Amino acid sequence: MKDIKKLVLPHLREPKGYSGVKSLEALAAESGVPPEKIVRLNGNENSYGPSPKVAQVLGSYDQYNRYPDPDQNRLKKVLSEYTGADPDRIVAGNGSDELIDLIIRLFVSAGDNIIEPTPTFGMYRFSARLADAKVVSVSRDSNFELDVESIELAMDANTKVIFLASPNNPTGNLATDDQIRRLLDLGVVLVVDEAYHEYCGQTAMGLLDDYSNLIVLRTFSKWAGLAGLRVGLGVMDPVIARLMMTIKPPYNMNVAAEEALIASLSDKDLLLDRIKPIVEERERMSNLLNHIPGLSPLSSQANFMMVRLPKGRGLEIFNKLATRGVFVRYYDSEEMKDCLRVSVGQRWETDLFVSALRDAVESQ
Ligand code: PMP
Repeated sequence: MKDIKKLVLPHLREPKGYSGVKSLEALAAESGVPPEKIVRLNGNENSYGPSPKVAQVLGSYDQYNRYPDPDQNRLKKVLSEYTGADPDRIVAGNGSDELIDLIIRLFVSAGDNIIEPTPTFGMYRFSARLADAKVVSVSRDSNFELDVESIELAMDANTKVIFLASPNNPTGNLATDDQIRRLLDLGVVLVVDEAYHEYCGQTAMGLLDDYSNLIVLRTFSKWAGLAGLRVGLGVMDPVIARLMMTIKPPYNMNVAAEEALIASLSDKDLLLDRIKPIVEERERMSNLLNHIPGLSPLSSQANFMMVRLPKGRGLEIFNKLATRGVFVRYYDSEEMKDCLRVSVGQRWETDLFVSALRDAVESQ
């Protein structure tokens, strides 16, 4: 066939993909730095790794030949114990990324739109575009705080979902309870994405009884070190949860992820104890960066922070770090082009990052 692309849906012929974090091997090849010396602070992962119980459980599990439970009964029970939400409000996903996609499938069709306060996490617009929906980006203010009035003005009859990350990725700041209520009062679905909840303790979960249009997302990628196994969850109105259970791929949670999740929750105290050193490390890093002329780190409630760089030097500094094997996140959008987002790792990683950044800033 001459032009096979013509068979593809028109809106997917030139898609804007999502640029996820590259593999260690790819980063090593790109920088020429051996894998063991690479500093990976670009994915907001957990440098401490998962609970040691995860490897034990996965090594001894003997039912890999069986399909996972499509009804997620055991998962819902343990997730309910962890979150305090009723099991019939919970849906587990292959990472919270999958739940974002399921939300779009459930509420948004071609020609509809979603609203995202930008800058924010890229999966909302990615999934919306796959559904041929429009993405209405409403800029945050100069301090990256929410501008609720502008969101209200941007809404129209085709607006189906508002996505709000709190703490926001990449800026690290929280939405207030009042802002969340005002957005809920708009009457469309509001997704409050709490991927970094465990680092700040804040949650909108308490509003679920009052607002059936609220969906709260959580993940085990950040606090529990399970990014590679893909465990996320959504908490929502039971009617919506039932529908989402019906449209999801039946075996979306693989048994390794399920076993790992249960092992992690049985070792919850150890995992939660690691939050404190990460938060302390975040504050130490912020302090070190504040002492480098030309840099201003933003205060953050998550396991990463955004750093403002000298004007016009974002990409250059990002590239200089990469050639030394130090990988952070760079966004080439107008509002972010003079910034980097850096994840908080362990002390040695902070020290390597800060010294590489100091050298990069000082060498023009
Ligand atoms: N939401 C936000 C705000 C995130 O930053 C991320 C990960 N970068 C996710 C969701 C996706 O997490 P998961 O690994 O559970 O798909």
